[in-house]
Amino acid sequence: MPESIPQVVIVGGGFGGLGAAKALKNAPVNVVLVDRTNHHLFQPLLYQVATSVLTPGQIGSPIRGILGKQRNTTVILGEVNGVDKDKKCVWVNGIDRQCVPVPYDFLILATGVTHSYFGHNEFEKFAPGLKSLADAVAIRNKILQAFEQAEAEENPARHRDLLTFVLVGAGPTGVEMASAIAVLVRNTLKSQFRRINPESARIILLDMAPRVLGPFSEDLSRAAKERLEKLGVEVRLGHGVDQIDADGVVVAGERIFSKTVIWTAGVAPSPAGKWLNAATDRAGRVRVQPDLSVLGHPEIFVVGDTASLDQNGKPLPGVAQVAMQQGRYAGRLIGRRIRGQSAPAPFRYFDKGNMAVVGKGFAVLQSGKVQLSGFPAWLAWAAVHLEFLAQSSLRVSVFVQWVLTYLTGQRGSRLIVNHHGVEPPKPAVEQSSEAATALSK
Ligand SMILES: Cc1cc2nc3c(=O)[nH]c(=O)nc-3n(C[C@H](O)[C@H](O)[C@H](O)COP(=O)(O)OP(=O)(O)OC[C@H]3O[C@@H](n4cnc5c(N)ncnc54)[C@H](O)[C@@H]3O)c2cc1C
Repeated sequence: MPESIPQVVIVGGGFGGLGAAKALKNAPVNVVLVDRTNHHLFQPLLYQVATSVLTPGQIGSPIRGILGKQRNTTVILGEVNGVDKDKKCVWVNGIDRQCVPVPYDFLILATGVTHSYFGHNEFEKFAPGLKSLADAVAIRNKILQAFEQAEAEENPARHRDLLTFVLVGAGPTGVEMASAIAVLVRNTLKSQFRRINPESARIILLDMAPRVLGPFSEDLSRAAKERLEKLGVEVRLGHGVDQIDADGVVVAGERIFSKTVIWTAGVAPSPAGKWLNAATDRAGRVRVQPDLSVLGHPEIFVVGDTASLDQNGKPLPGVAQVAMQQGRYAGRLIGRRIRGQSAPAPFRYFDKGNMAVVGKGFAVLQSGKVQLSGFPAWLAWAAVHLEFLAQSSLRVSVFVQWVLTYLTGQRGSRLIVNHHGVEPPKPAVEQSSEAATALSK
């Protein structure tokens, strides 16, 4: 490429970054997309990898493959750890090199969010979150191992603790995970063990909020809660967790013994605000202008979960549609500016609605004044999620797997894949949950 062609650096190949890159397909620019993973991840289906329905390869696609035919775009595997606004470059740690400068004329930061334990980072060790494919496989290992450990345990008094699954956070991810574990237990595992009854598993969903699925209407929230309870999930609301440790959780002064606690509560934005030394909202997301640029830097844009923009007096939610629409907008704006065309109207989010699945064949859907729950909402959910998978081969493969799982209960991947081997065994301890409860009183 001749040197005079402007260079657009996009950091992040998620929904926002990919939307921006595609919007620049025919622009007279050199695009460099940097991501610390080599794949675009369809996060809304992560819970299905964590509960063995889908394999990691069914919800992740190599970014290089998605953009392979886009001649003006180079993909780099690397982790950005800073931005020099004066020198106009980002600093990238590659596989074998640190702090490599990558220069830009325009910069789009689309680096998403990470887990937030609300100041209790010590919880992370005991309650992993769900954000990446590695997280999903680790949680899948944890869930499947709990059943294996219980089956191998001769002392039935310990089965209860091993088969208690606690989800902290009753937003869409917590609700989807809790109901998916309930379906896994009932439809797939129930006849495959001899010493334990998988259906006796306790699945507990906790949240300090007064209702599940906060972003949805009260009616849909109630419908989701009823469905969860029908699936056997214990929903406990109105109290935050006080403690999470190797023995489980403490909530409202009560200890719940559990070997499998999953964090589905908070998220925190990437450090983009620190890299830019820019104004952020209370959560740390970069405050952007109505055209998604950073104040005083019309050449830098922040999009998606790591950006903060109000519309109609309310902050835009951290959902895939916002990220996609913002990414496309920033890409188009840069294309127009380079071609000398007029600036587009300020960004406006077009809300197509929210959905969440609650077990097999049941979802809630809210779009404008339309509110739906049950099987029709689930069909709509399935169609929309298939449509937004990154590649057509994935759409076919996920569709076939869903039909198979729906009809037979069979799952795409029930493998425990522990790359680091099995931890050395601990000496057996004779302790029932009742005895331990008595001790903790
Ligand atoms: C479990 C789960 C379920 C969800 N369900 C839904 C749903 O049902 N519907 C919905 O609309 N939304 C859902 N979301 C939210 C949705 O996925 C996000 O809003 C969306 O992914 C945001 O897009 P983004 O481009 O801002 O960030 P992301 O899609 O997270 O992409 C960020 C990218 O940046 C890369 N990156 C981060 N830091 C760096 C760095 N320093 N250097 C290089 N690369 C970096 C990451 O590897 C990643 O590829 C869900 C999220 C999760 C975690």
